[in-house]
Amino acid sequence: MKKTSMMYVVDLTKIKGDGDFPCPYCGAVISPEDKTENAYVIREVKMEADDELRELVIKCKGCGSVINITGFDLQ
Ligand SMILES: [Zn+2]
Repeated sequence: MKKTSMMYVVDLTKIKGDGDFPCPYCGAVISPEDKTENAYVIREVKMEADDELRELVIKCKGCGSVINITGFDLQ
């Protein structure tokens, strides 16, 4: 496995369906609702002042890419 650490940004407001999306690099399905961390590990959680989730930084377990998830506010 290559040790690349690409950084991607995924905007959930542009994702159709229930929020699942494929990893931009390796295509592994990532579900932000999935707290088991089978497909990814959470590296950072950024909250708004009112405790609303604003941004999630995860790392894909498949390829090691860092993915910055935004757009949670349209849930
Ligand atoms: Zn990946």
